[in-house]
Amino acid sequence: SGTFKVLALGGDHIGPEVVAAGLQVLRQVADQFGVAVEIEEDLLGGASWDVHGTFCTDAVAAKARAADAILVGAVGGPEWDNIRIAGPITETDGLTRLRIELDVYNALRPARAWPALLHRTPYRQEVVEGADLLVVRENAGGIYYGEPRGREVLGDGQERAFEISEYRTGEVERIARCAFEAARGRGGHVTSLDKSNVMESGKLWRETVARIGREEYPDIQLRHLLMDYALFAVARAPQEFDVLLADNLFGDLISDLVAVVSGALGMLPSATLPAAARVGHPVKGGLYEPTHGSAPDISGQGVANPIGTILSVAMMFEYGFGLPAAARAIEQAVDRVLAAGLAPPDLGGTDGTATITQAILRNLHPIPA
Ligand code: NAD
Ligand code: MN
Repeated sequence: SGTFKVLALGGDHIGPEVVAAGLQVLRQVADQFGVAVEIEEDLLGGASWDVHGTFCTDAVAAKARAADAILVGAVGGPEWDNIRIAGPITETDGLTRLRIELDVYNALRPARAWPALLHRTPYRQEVVEGADLLVVRENAGGIYYGEPRGREVLGDGQERAFEISEYRTGEVERIARCAFEAARGRGGHVTSLDKSNVMESGKLWRETVARIGREEYPDIQLRHLLMDYALFAVARAPQEFDVLLADNLFGDLISDLVAVVSGALGMLPSATLPAAARVGHPVKGGLYEPTHGSAPDISGQGVANPIGTILSVAMMFEYGFGLPAAARAIEQAVDRVLAAGLAPPDLGGTDGTATITQAILRNLHPIPA
């Protein structure tokens, strides 16, 4: 299968700390599964600004376009908050530039209830036990990118600020297929979220998802929920859901809600892909990153939870390299380490980044096919 090229961009604060942990796991699992990987590291975000005067250089963007997979830590921090650059968001936000350059629209955000962490979630154990959710968020369109947008001063002196929520049929079709494909590899259920009762883009969303489901995925069970009720329904009984499909804004909201089943922000991985993830078909050019930010409040202390990044590496093996067995091996190692009672501070424990990472490396065993 050749050599997989990985670009690793630590970013800022705890970003490089958790990416270093992720790369240790990446190297060991690649060895154990006989996968050749070539890893190159570079700068993104404030770290890039300090050296190059830009948050993402053209060279990094070019390397990302050429890579099979990109591992990112997190970017940002108070040092760079007040830098004001005129121009499009691709100049002012390195990660957004990368997302646009890579044309990634299929954001996959899994959240599960880990048996060893049930007592650390805000839920009663019997409510959350067994919960295993995957948010499929449309990540390249909708209200965050709709044109026109802006601010203007009105005749009466008030300011008006506005953006529009827009979707085209093709954009909804392609993300709907992503959700149905994901459901085929999981529990076979898709719940699509929208506000079709009040939004035109929501009506188009619901009609289009229903048509793709009917015509192309009759084997998948589809239901539609209005977004406001969905927040209650998912919070009340997370075990009843499998794949949650949502637009850019609603997907942003529901992904933070489902995070509570895992117990800590530091546990959550993500993959953002330029195509649907189909079983047995690796996707080139995906962005893999923990869901959390750069946590300036704890950086440099060696206490960051590396598990969200390590599970993002698992997603890289599954979706980027087409090796789900390697992903399962990483998840089982995480499960064993948590079951043994190890926990980083964000889960109420005292084990640092290195301790958790070493324990995961020791518990990584190839799973016989
Ligand atoms: P954050 O996720 O960085 O931190 C929120 C809280 O969670 C903090 O108390 C932090 O210590 C804790 N935390 C987060 N990840 C952790 C981990 N792995 N282990 C232990 N504790 C962890 O969010 P924030 O404080 O709102 O933002 C801080 C900076 O990160 C800001 O500059 C923000 O813009 C940036 N940010 C970047 C990304 C990204 O790069 N994708 C995402 C969100 C925020
Ligand atoms: Mn968000």
